[in-house]
Amino acid sequence: MTGTPVKKPEKIVPPTPPLRIRDHGKGASYDRVGFLGEGGFARVYEVQDSRSARKAIKVINRASIKTKKNKTKLWAEIKLHQMLVHPHIVRFEDCFEDNENVYMILELCENGSMMDLLRRRKRYTEPEARYYLVQLIAACQYMHRMNVIHRDLKLGNLFLDADMNVKVGDFGLAALIENPGDRKKTICGTPNYIAPEVLFDQDNGHSFEVDVWSIGVIMYTLLIGKPPFQTKDVKTIYKRIRENRYEFPADKQISNSAQDLISSILNPKPDERPPLETILSHRWFLDGPFPAYIPASANDFAPDYR
Ligand code: ADP
Repeated sequence: MTGTPVKKPEKIVPPTPPLRIRDHGKGASYDRVGFLGEGGFARVYEVQDSRSARKAIKVINRASIKTKKNKTKLWAEIKLHQMLVHPHIVRFEDCFEDNENVYMILELCENGSMMDLLRRRKRYTEPEARYYLVQLIAACQYMHRMNVIHRDLKLGNLFLDADMNVKVGDFGLAALIENPGDRKKTICGTPNYIAPEVLFDQDNGHSFEVDVWSIGVIMYTLLIGKPPFQTKDVKTIYKRIRENRYEFPADKQISNSAQDLISSILNPKPDERPPLETILSHRWFLDGPFPAYIPASANDFAPDYR
């Protein structure tokens, strides 16, 4: 599968949690009201707390974190997510466990993931892409200032709240840079979105620039409807990434300034990739309408910004 991360624990689906999930330690309870989705090793449900506030609960079966490695990974995800508080990052509210599962209480993103929207809509308009990218970049600037690299930015990990604002989620592959200049060596990410230096420069390692690369892949995917290096098999995707081989299909008619920005971001050399501030000052952001908000109808139809 080209849409799944290359380094995630093997899939163990948790049993369905009880209808009323109790946090005995804090005396809180959450009523399960719906199913939201399933990821590599978790199921996510919609719940209501005792004040009827709606939340998302991520349920991880304890059997899937039996190994020390998986346990360490989950606690790292929780620790990093917990310290990030930003309007465009899914709010981490709480976590607790019972005999069966570990539970993470998260801000509910009513409009699902940006991947779900892409499937319905096929592609996004340039004004919408401008709107969402500004929010994604703001979240990314904040994460990087907090010394966190997300390392798995992709449409499936970008969620939309009730007001159609972006919330970055899933910190399962995120890394903390503890000393300035430290570089990471683990190969991780999701094939379509993975930066070339992660795959081909393991001696040197990688850093914050991998998130910038993924932003380029995200921008291309929003406007064209599929990721730039997409093919049937992962090996060929990696070959295309290595050769920096992608094109802008003429029938999709995306603006020259959008093409220029994407090409500058998808620079194979991480130190030549534009910093986030430089991306934000690119003329594409001023080259056409910038929506004041995105209407909920954008879930099904392209908004008209002419
Ligand atoms: P994993 O870390 O196992 O990949 P995810 O965090 O990606 O799990 O969640 C799996 C699915 O659950 C997502 O694709 C999405 O559909 C849904 N989901 C996750 N978090 C939320 C949230 N905060 N609000 C609404 N839906 C969510």
